[in-house]
This record gives sequence, structure tokens and C-alpha cells, in this order.
Amino acid sequence: MDEKLLSIDSAVNELIKKAKEDGVETIFDRKENMKPCPMGEKGICCRICAMGPCRITPKTPRGLCGATADVIVSRNFARMVAGGAAAHSDHGRDIAHVLHMTSKDGNYKVTDEEKLKELAKRWKIETEGRDIYDIAHEVAEFALNEFGKPFGTLEFPPSLPEQRKKVWENLNIVPRAIDREVVTIMHSTHVGCTADADSMLNISMRTAISDGWGGSYIATELSDILFGTPIPRETEANLGVLEENQVNIVLHGHEPSLSEMIVLAAEDPELIELAKEVGADGINLAGMCCTANEVTMRHGVKIAGNFAQQELAVLTGAVEAVIVDVQCIFPALASLAECYHTKFITTSPKARITGATHIEFDEEKALESAKQIVREAILNFKNRKKEKVFIPKTKSHAMVGYSTKAIINQLDKVVNSHIDKPGTVKPLADCITSGVLRGAAGIVGCNNPKVKHDYGHVEMIKELIKNDVIVVTTGCAAQAAAKAGLLSKDARKLAGKGLATVCELVDIPPVLHMGSCVDISRILELVGLVAKQLNVDISELPVVGAAPEWMSEKAVSIGTYVVSSGIDTWLGVAPPVTGGPRVLEILTSEMENMVGAKFFVEPDPIKAAHQMIEKIEQKRKVLEEKFENIKAVAQA
Ligand code: SF4
Ligand code: SF4
Repeated sequence: MDEKLLSIDSAVNELIKKAKEDGVETIFDRKENMKPCPMGEKGICCRICAMGPCRITPKTPRGLCGATADVIVSRNFARMVAGGAAAHSDHGRDIAHVLHMTSKDGNYKVTDEEKLKELAKRWKIETEGRDIYDIAHEVAEFALNEFGKPFGTLEFPPSLPEQRKKVWENLNIVPRAIDREVVTIMHSTHVGCTADADSMLNISMRTAISDGWGGSYIATELSDILFGTPIPRETEANLGVLEENQVNIVLHGHEPSLSEMIVLAAEDPELIELAKEVGADGINLAGMCCTANEVTMRHGVKIAGNFAQQELAVLTGAVEAVIVDVQCIFPALASLAECYHTKFITTSPKARITGATHIEFDEEKALESAKQIVREAILNFKNRKKEKVFIPKTKSHAMVGYSTKAIINQLDKVVNSHIDKPGTVKPLADCITSGVLRGAAGIVGCNNPKVKHDYGHVEMIKELIKNDVIVVTTGCAAQAAAKAGLLSKDARKLAGKGLATVCELVDIPPVLHMGSCVDISRILELVGLVAKQLNVDISELPVVGAAPEWMSEKAVSIGTYVVSSGIDTWLGVAPPVTGGPRVLEILTSEMENMVGAKFFVEPDPIKAAHQMIEKIEQKRKVLEEKFENIKAVAQA
């Protein structure tokens, strides 16, 4: 294993070297030893019933039940979508429960009243003269019903263009209740149900839409109401944010209901005093994965790293505790933590891990519970072994906190109040139609050891901004960008002239950090608003998406709802569908006729960026012609 080839991040490579010296294994070693099953890679093995497992070969072109390769591949794909949608949506449901728990004197409060009232109005909940917490509880109940209401379809946000809804209606993929869509997939993929790849993919699209425009959307909206809508702020990123003389706590996972309370607990004077008593200068919080995105967007908490770095944080020997909740947590952390003094603390009954210290986070006594967890971390400082400590020096400056509202506020800087109203996305739409910005790209998703760590994210983003494509980013891609310095305003010097000028005038970096994975709903909102501003469908905009290093089922759901929303999406890693010719045909070709967008698979991020730019230019041409025709008709 040549560690230089594993990551473009020097902190990662330095710590991989340390892992060798310390005699411990990381994901990079496990990847080296793992030989993926070629059947699994193509998606052509099935173990849905006990007549199997079945696998498709030239000699056995059907499973025992008669399922063809396409049936098996489409079912496996659908189950990935269901897994991803379930993870995001259950996150959204939990946040709705937390909103339902809010009270004036409780740990959880309403922070963004304006957003709460907006949402209440949208859902026809009375706001006039009512106590804010009564409104919050009713909004929470409404949100909770979206998961399991027996009749009707999902309540869409006003940013969804009518044209897009029509596309979904025509295909019969308008989601009903969020949980229902996940259950329907589990039902339809049972032995002896759906045996038609086209139908299976339609069901998958409907479920994915219920994630992006439903579960994830609810998670983001309600998190903003509870913990505040992000505004631009400064932070730093990479493992160099860990401090030699402080109690280092890494927050890892997803749900802000835990991390927000840990942030509060770490500010508690008694606990800061306790940290000093054990010999530290204070408490240093650092985030990992999407929890990092949540707390940095709202508090500027520093970012320790992304998905592939979670073990490396422990390897620094300077982390007193890794506190986790749900999703994307390596079970390997349990045995790794044993080799260091680090406490690996699980907090959610949904994600218990053998070998971890489990301290269940009690939302009813949230702050007290968070304090107990932080106390454990502090008391562990005295167990730190100085000789094992190595913190790489690497860290970069980053601007974070670009919620849709924050972006609109920035755009207001260039609104001529004699001509236009503030508070809209019109300046962004104008920049796109005039061609100053050629288009926009959403770069999202994970790390995957099948590809060089962070390389795909960083190179793709650089290529796009160089060509005047503004980039918005979330998830672990956002952290790769932060570590590479692409989220700083300084990165304007890497942008093409048009984009650099826009960034200068609007006072933004060329790459906007829009949050965590559920916050991809913010990207949908922004794109939807621009489409509405121009009175076109999302699929007509020069907008593209990419997940250069994706790995999770959540990413499959995301990719599917992004494409279903009309945005062409590039994947840097092939999904396990190559064994199903019909499935491949639909995903990479026919979806374009259905929803106006499709999947592309291109492992080379520079090549992919050029394909994306080409697509943007194609869409621009069609859009320009459309606008010309409209003008001609208006003048006639
Ligand atoms: S569902 Fe069909 S293909 Fe799958 S394991 Fe059972 S018999 Fe085999
Ligand atoms: S981007 Fe991928 S790895 Fe990172 S937190 Fe989200 S799902 Fe997990």
C-alpha cells in the first residue's frame, strides 16, 4: 500500500503512516485486503428468500423463482434507495419529535420564529395571536403526519415548480406518505412481487422524491426552526484543528438534536473548570461527517474531517472522546479506540456498537444528558498518553453557513432597489441567463476508498469554478472543499473571471457550503426558486450534480431524487447495476425522456467536469432559444 496514493490530504497520509507505526489497521488497510465479489459489484446476486442465494451467470440466467438479472438488479437498487430514504427520513422524524418537545423553559426552544410561522402558514396552521410553542407543536404534528398519513400526497414546499410536479404526476411518482414509500419498496421487492425493472425504478424514484422533498426537507426546515437558520461564518477544517492542550471531543454522526446540546454543554462553566482541573486548557469541539456540517453551519464549530478520516482522528492520540449518534459511523472505531485512550461513545438506541461505551442520550433531559457525556470525555484527558500524540499541522480556513436565506441575503447586496425587490434569487437567475455564470453545480456525497480520498471532490470543483460554474456543496464533499481551501473567499483566485466578479460583488466564496446531506434539500430549494423565477422547469436550467466519491445508500437515494428533480448527475463510482442491461439503460439514458435528466458514471473528475460543462452549455443553448422565442412572441 503506497500511502501517498491514498489521499490528496497530507494529514491523512501522515496518519496512515502513523497507523502502520502503531500497528493498527484503518479502512485503507481493509480496502487493500478486501476483494469485492464480482456478482455483488454488478448487482446480480439475490438473497431475498431462502430458496437462494441466487446469482446470475451465463449458465444460470434466472434465479430459482425465475427472476432475471434486471429484476434482481432493480430490486437491489430499490432497496438501496429505501435504505437511504429511511435513514434521512427517520432523521427528519426525530427532529419533528424534538420540535414537539420544545417549551419556553425546556432545553429545546424555537430559535427561528419567522421560519416557524412561514412553515405554519404554508401548512395552514393558525399563527395569529397564538403562543409560539403552540404553533411549534402543531407544526411538528403536521410534519409527523407526513410520514404516515393514510390519504393524499406529500405536501411540497413552494419552491417546487408546477412543471416538475406535472412531470411526476404524469409518471405517477408523486410520493404519498414518506414511510409508506419505503414500506412499498420493501413490499414490492419481496419474492414474488415486482418483476419489472421499469416499474421498480419508478417506485424507486417516488421513494427518493419522498426523501429529498419530504424527509430531508423536513429535517432541514425543522432543524433551522429549532437551532437557527445558518448565516455565513468562519471556521477551520482538517485534523490540525485538534488542540494539544485541550480536551478534544469529536462529534460524529448526523442529528443536530444531540450535537447542539453537546455544544451547549461544552460551554458550561463548571465543565470548563473541570477540564482545567484535569490539566487541560479547555474543551475543544470538532465535528466529523454531517454532524460537523450541522454544528459548523450554525456555530462555526471546527471541522475535524470527513468520512474517511474518522479513524484517523483517533489515531492522533489526542481525542478524549468520539461521540456519535447515527449513520456513517465505522464499527471499527470500537476496537481502534481500545488501542488509544479515546472513549468511543454511542448515544442512540438506533446505532449501538459492540465494544463502544453506550451512554444513551435522553432528549427529555437533553442538556443534563449531554453534560454527562462531555464529563466522561473530560475525565478521560488524564489517560492521554503523550508519547502517542501526533496532531498533523494541516488546517484550512473556510466560510460556511450558506443556507438559501443566507444566499438570498448576500444577493440583496447587488439588487438595484429602484428596479427589483430584495429577498429573491433574481440576481442569481440574471447572472445565469446573462452568462456571467455559465451554470451551477451541486457537488455532494461521501468518501469511498475505491477512489483516491478527496481527489474527486477537489479536482472536480476546481475545474468547474475555473470555468465560471458556481458550486454549492454539502456532506463530506463540503469538508473536502473546506480542507482544500475552496470554501474561503481567497478561492476566488481559482475561479473564472465571471464567477470571480460575481463572488467579489456578492461577497461570497466560489464554492458555497450549504450544509449536511439532509441539507441537499436546500439545494433543491435554491434550484427550484431559480426555476420559478425564470418560469421554467428545473430540468431546463444549466444546473448539474455530482457525487464523485459516493458510497452510502443515502447517496443512492439522493442521486435518484436529484435526477428525478431534473438535474443530470455524475457518479465517480459505478453503482451495483451494471449486471442489469435494462436497468442501466433506464438510469443512464431513458430517464432523460422521463424526468429530463439521467445518471452519468465517470471516475475521472476532470473528464466528468468537462462533461458537466458541456451539458450546461447544451442546456444554456436551449434555454436561450426558448427565451428568444418568448421575446419574439411578446413583440409580435
Ligand atoms: S427471490 Fe428469487 S432470485 Fe432471489 S433468492 Fe429467492 S429464488 Fe433466488
Ligand atoms: S456524505 Fe456520505 S459519508 Fe458523509 S456523512 Fe453523508 S452519507 Fe455519510
